[in-house]
Amino acid sequence: MSPDNKLVVLAVPKETAAGEQRVATVPEVVQKLKKAGFEVRIEHDAGIKAYYPDDLYVAAGATIAPGRAGLLDGARIVLCVQPPTVAEVEAFVEGTIVIGFMNAATNLDAVARMRDRKITAFALELVPRITRAQSMDALSSQATAGGYAAAILGADNCPKFLPMLTTAAGTIRPATVLILGAGVAGLMAIATAKRLGAIVEAYDVRRAAGEQVRSLGAKFLELEINAEGQGGYARELTAEEKVQEQQMVSAAVARADIVITTAAIPGRKAPVLVTKETVAMMKPGAVIIDLAAETGGNCELTQAAKTVIEHGVTIIGPQNLPARVAYHSSQMYAKNLQSFLSLLVDKEGKPVTDFTDEILVASLLVHAGEVRHAPTREMLAGGKK
Ligand code: NAD
Repeated sequence: MSPDNKLVVLAVPKETAAGEQRVATVPEVVQKLKKAGFEVRIEHDAGIKAYYPDDLYVAAGATIAPGRAGLLDGARIVLCVQPPTVAEVEAFVEGTIVIGFMNAATNLDAVARMRDRKITAFALELVPRITRAQSMDALSSQATAGGYAAAILGADNCPKFLPMLTTAAGTIRPATVLILGAGVAGLMAIATAKRLGAIVEAYDVRRAAGEQVRSLGAKFLELEINAEGQGGYARELTAEEKVQEQQMVSAAVARADIVITTAAIPGRKAPVLVTKETVAMMKPGAVIIDLAAETGGNCELTQAAKTVIEHGVTIIGPQNLPARVAYHSSQMYAKNLQSFLSLLVDKEGKPVTDFTDEILVASLLVHAGEVRHAPTREMLAGGKK
């Protein structure tokens, strides 16, 4: 119970971004939040696109608010997937805490409005990747969903079978799937393509990823050179070795039926790994699924949110792949939020107000009229917002 004996009210709006199918909480998690002492309010039809209808939330103990005003009135915490828009921020009551992906660099107007309206915002993408925060790591849960969806999308657009087949009509060779970037999404794409029966190869600039790739039964591409330098540390590759590495990756792209690219460098434009010359070397009917489309693309020919066909190669720049598996990506996201919320109330369910926990410190984007995240503050100062 909060000091004035009222429960902390959590509000879950219906997501408004185009193509967003996810919802910030699911009925199973509502039950747990109720047990933890929260009151949960869901905007009418908030979960419908992820196949969680209102009646399931009601059965789990939530109340349904017909519209935004009734939802937000008296709510202390708002849970969202996508960052709030400027118009949505205007509707929040001063002092409201908003938790979700904030993508501050591309939402500076909304961040400035939250600062001016004294809204508190926690950005889930800023949660540090420390062991204690693993259950709150929404970047990982959504990358898992995205990697799975990418492999399925690749298979769906490929004119070939993925597994080997021995039939009366002849033997079919298995398809080859290449994954560039073996982080969370890449590893999930590898596991999914393997389960579909393809031959899977993968490459990552981090050599340490090799062990994880091999443990999934895929081949890790690396040059047969000894890059061990002084004292056992890896040395930087020479210019010549870097060219050889590029050639090795291009040759792998050229022999693949499906290429899934996931290479990202946090806060920077995605590196180009597949040039237009390499696309021209690919087999007709090959497919590229570029998970980095929204940050510039790993393939030079990718167009965000579009499918283009060049030299007989289908190049897909999908937007919001986790939304394609909205039922489970919402479930995982809701559990991440449930775990994060445990930092905001004490054992008696009273709200925590000092935000001194290192996870809260790192993820606090805006609070009490100030932008707390230094890089975002600098961006706002640069644009004089
Ligand atoms: P990401 O989405 O930032 O990048 C995806 C992958 O692309 C990374 O593996 C990266 O090395 C790779 N990449 C970047 N440039 C490349 C290039 N030019 N060529 C090929 N590959 C390139 O990564 P992520 O999925 O967020 O994971 C990043 C790291 O964080 C991984 O080591 C992962 O295991 C680790 N991680 C740790 C935790 C934790 O400890 N709690 C949680 C999640 C991820």
